[in-house]
Amino acid sequence: MKFGGTSVEDAPAMKRTAEIVRGRRDKGLEAVVVVSAMAKVTDLLLAAAAAAGRGDKAGALAIGARLRHRHIDTAAALLETERFAKLQLALHAEFDALDDLLRGISAVGELTPRTNDLVVSFGERLSSRVMAEALQERGMQGAHVDARRCIVTDANYGKAAPVESAIEGKLAEVVLPLIEAGKTPVMGGFIGATVEGVTTTLGRGGSDYTAALVGGGMHAGAIEIWTDVNGIMTTDPRICPDALRVKTISFEEAAELAYFGAKVLHPATILPAVQKSIPVWVLNSRNAANEGTKITAMADKCASPFKSIAAKKRLTIVDVVASRMLMSHGYLKAVFDVFDKYKCAIDMVSTSEVSISLTVDSNQQLPEICSDLSKIADVKMEGNKALVCLVGEDIRGHNGIAGQVFSAISHVNVRMISQGASEINMSFMIDEEDVEEAVRSLHKHFFTNPDETVFDVTGRDNANRIEQESKA
Ligand code: ADP
Ligand code: ASP
Ligand code: MG
Repeated sequence: MKFGGTSVEDAPAMKRTAEIVRGRRDKGLEAVVVVSAMAKVTDLLLAAAAAAGRGDKAGALAIGARLRHRHIDTAAALLETERFAKLQLALHAEFDALDDLLRGISAVGELTPRTNDLVVSFGERLSSRVMAEALQERGMQGAHVDARRCIVTDANYGKAAPVESAIEGKLAEVVLPLIEAGKTPVMGGFIGATVEGVTTTLGRGGSDYTAALVGGGMHAGAIEIWTDVNGIMTTDPRICPDALRVKTISFEEAAELAYFGAKVLHPATILPAVQKSIPVWVLNSRNAANEGTKITAMADKCASPFKSIAAKKRLTIVDVVASRMLMSHGYLKAVFDVFDKYKCAIDMVSTSEVSISLTVDSNQQLPEICSDLSKIADVKMEGNKALVCLVGEDIRGHNGIAGQVFSAISHVNVRMISQGASEINMSFMIDEEDVEEAVRSLHKHFFTNPDETVFDVTGRDNANRIEQESKA
């Protein structure tokens, strides 16, 4: 059971989370709990590390002090006096260590990726300690596990890759005995360590990944991702408040959605689960009675072509025009090698006789990439782009879908189009500022009369009723 930042953001949220865990235990199920840092804590830790790196010691320590108060106040509201007193000592010791670290970084005035990971790791280390005690207090034998003992990774700081073969053994050694003793292990997501024991992180949103690694490594019966929405929705409800819950979605569809920007799941989450055919559920910790979304090996038949619409901003289009080599043998490889050298992932590619257009995250290395590419071609970059992606296994069975997509957004300027090789996504690039409008138009077109076996329309009925009542 993985609980995201909003599910542990304060004492009431942690209480709700504890009750959800109790619900599973009452059914006779054994659970491993994986928690994110409390909401916004990772952002604040990153800001503290950056401030320290600039030599702004006071700024960094001020953030540390804020976080110290927030964690201690939360613990105080959750625990009885004696248990709180004990935890408080432990939390102070952790925050003292964080302060020392920030002072050290400020003194040197330099922040390495390795030290940055150590700073952000405090978020999950602390939230998991508090959560473990909250479960103890409620009679559920919460047992804190430092995730760094189990999640073995390489040393690619900031986006470390897990070493799954090693993780399985560690889980058997560290976590399994706790379960066998009737305890509820609680560990932080997102963090890990190299074989040498150096702290690493799995990349933003990485707690979902931890949950899947633990679920996969322990052959769990199910992986539950508890968040702040009713499941995977037909699009981000922040863009379209009338988005509908998708009742079931296939692994493949969910993976495409996550990869193309649906923040509800980390892109790498699905893989360890697919390999072991473990069902994944996305559930709402604020509305635990809701059924959520079940991610299954095969998609149910659906009368609507798409399951959901995702959007990913902050992308750059790189146009590479062959000048000297005119698409000669080995040319594509040379172009892709440059991106490979900078470990830069490419989202979309389209080619013409003499040019290749690629889309990448707008990252700091683009100038270097550009300069390397210009040795073999003419290069042009266009930033502030966004990718909109419609996903659904049933695109295959429908004719004229592309026509419908592009007439729904005929007022928007479309730059690149691709129908994914997997045949379950259709995506295109537009200007960042057009994203909300485009997604709303597409949502209206494709989800006004949805297939009720796959989409939960009761939410929409309620929304309509409330709107009508408020008008009346
Ligand atoms: P957590 O902290 O629980 O991991 P996240 O903020 O990472 O939560 O992910 C949940 C958020 O993902 C939702 O609040 C929602 O705004 C966003 N989101 C984007 N696309 C979708 C989608 N298709 N379905 C549901 N939520 C989505
Ligand atoms: N706390 C980390 C983040 O904010 C990991 C996560 O929440 O999944 O990115
Ligand atoms: Mg998340």
